[in-house]
Amino acid sequence: MPLLVMKFGGTSVANLDRIRNAAAKVKREVERGYDVIVIVSAMSGKTNELVNWVEQTSPLYDAREYDAVVASGENVTAGLMALTLQEMDVPARSWQGWQVPILTTSAHAAARFKDIPRDNIDRKFAEGMKVAVVAGFQGVTDEGRITTLGRGGSDTTAVAFAAAFAAERCDIYTDVDGVYTTDPRICEKARRLDRISFEEMLELASLGAKVLQTRSVELAMRYKVKLRVLTSFEDTDETSGTLVCDEEDIMESKAVSGVAYSRDEAKMTLVTVEDRPGIAAAIFGPLAEAGVNVDMIVQNISEKDYGGRPTAVTDMTFSLPTNQVARAQKALEDARAAGAISYEDLVVDTAVAKVSVVGIGMRSHAGVAATMFKALAAEGINIKVITTSEIKISVLIDRKYMELAVQALHDAFELEKAA
Ligand code: ASP
Ligand code: MG
Repeated sequence: MPLLVMKFGGTSVANLDRIRNAAAKVKREVERGYDVIVIVSAMSGKTNELVNWVEQTSPLYDAREYDAVVASGENVTAGLMALTLQEMDVPARSWQGWQVPILTTSAHAAARFKDIPRDNIDRKFAEGMKVAVVAGFQGVTDEGRITTLGRGGSDTTAVAFAAAFAAERCDIYTDVDGVYTTDPRICEKARRLDRISFEEMLELASLGAKVLQTRSVELAMRYKVKLRVLTSFEDTDETSGTLVCDEEDIMESKAVSGVAYSRDEAKMTLVTVEDRPGIAAAIFGPLAEAGVNVDMIVQNISEKDYGGRPTAVTDMTFSLPTNQVARAQKALEDARAAGAISYEDLVVDTAVAKVSVVGIGMRSHAGVAATMFKALAAEGINIKVITTSEIKISVLIDRKYMELAVQALHDAFELEKAA
């Protein structure tokens, strides 16, 4: 039997009507001849409520109990989905993570898959079950404790099952009808993409386009799982939504496929640190230990009279999420107090945003950076930091210009037009 994985996000199972709507889509695939593994999220808002309850009960909660509570949202949806399918005469059974079992590491709230043995589910398919409904987002450790995969983790569950069961495709049903060239709420010319490569999707996902959990795309890329993002709110067919696929399956690509942004960025500059071997390690080591996710890093050379004698000094600038600034500040001040680093001043700017253009076409098109910088200059937007990779150029700018920058770049690369 060919097999499909269908994943329904929180808004697609938000109430009993929506669950029936989702179940009808599953039934249609069964009628087409597929065995189906359905992965469900918690009903929308449920996980937030559960997280809240945990935090109110115990501010410094035990992560094992956090997982025990927070995983429960998906259990409810899995059971309800199986019941709804049964009411529609589709033989269905629900599975919590431990029943499969979905074996994970014991990194609670951020667990990773170790193994998904197929035997239990395969046996049920062999007995005539048509749909296995699996609770997303959760797993179990070797010791039998419940784990969760991190927020948005049901996407990753879906891809892992598609890989483990060699599914023909993994359809991710959500509340948008696909992946867009940029956020349609910011740019009304945003266009839905028919196809996008894993690599581009990975950049867009990690740059703040929240359609898919980043880890799910990494996993899909590694196991070459064809992923489709589509809406559960409309009738859809084989051609709906956006296919996230291998680069080889994309005929033609423009220089840039999408514009991504990340609003809550901050920039920190250490003014006049010593320019000597080991200085970067001395700065970023303590930051890493403090759990700070440093993103862009720029080191500037500045020759300056330092402490009365001419010494090579440099300024070190890096970006990080706004909510990690306090932690970063403390780590750096502690390192300075311990004598590991020295600096004259620590300048913090919490009003910046990152805007990026992404495209595999950049590898073969010249002048992408120049086009980007010209478009920003034409709007009078100052660039504070620039970083590039093979398929991405990112700039840090004042947050108040973020929307304008996204629109200007969308226009400059003519993203409203298909390739
Ligand atoms: N329910 C979980 C969350 O809200 C997992 C998911 O929906 O993907 O993060
Ligand atoms: Mg999600």
